[in-house]
Amino acid sequence: MYPKKFNDLIQAFRKLPGVGQKTAERYAYTVLGWNEEEFTEFQNAINHMKEGVHYCKKCGNMSEGEYCEYCMDLNRNTHMICVVQSPKDIAAIESIQEYNGLYHVLHGVINMQKGILPDSLNIASLLERIQKEDIEEVILALDPTVEGETTSLYLEKILKDKVKTTRLAYGIPIGGHLDYTDALTLLRAFEGRK
Ligand SMILES: [Zn+2]
Repeated sequence: MYPKKFNDLIQAFRKLPGVGQKTAERYAYTVLGWNEEEFTEFQNAINHMKEGVHYCKKCGNMSEGEYCEYCMDLNRNTHMICVVQSPKDIAAIESIQEYNGLYHVLHGVINMQKGILPDSLNIASLLERIQKEDIEEVILALDPTVEGETTSLYLEKILKDKVKTTRLAYGIPIGGHLDYTDALTLLRAFEGRK
């Protein structure tokens, strides 16, 4: 019922999390109504984001240069690494102002159904860091989901003889997401890690 090009845009918007058919249609109509300037601004933002945002060579966080702001920050505790599944979890942890160590982003969690195995995650470089850097504690801060749990167990196993490994003590239900967790719960989870 829509012209093909218009429908292509709807399908593109549907790839975004939480966007269904109706919302995607609304977005597409909005774009259709934009003037040239609005359109170019949006187009540039997407193009330049891809060119200007990289992943930190060391920890996998988003970064403008080779290394991210946390890896470059001399005031951080370089003996601790907090392992998260996505760069957006770092923002959640930073917001509670409890943790001052470094990070390591896995870019996902083990998910057998989707074929995501340990090899496809940013784990090899974590092991390398533990070997090369003077790390005293690794904090596993993955989502309290089945996949997050599987990944934490896997990491605990391979890190067992290498470094002290702790986990956030979640008071949040299984199936929750770290970045949606309120600050107080996250703070308690950090303080109570074991
Ligand atoms: Zn980094």
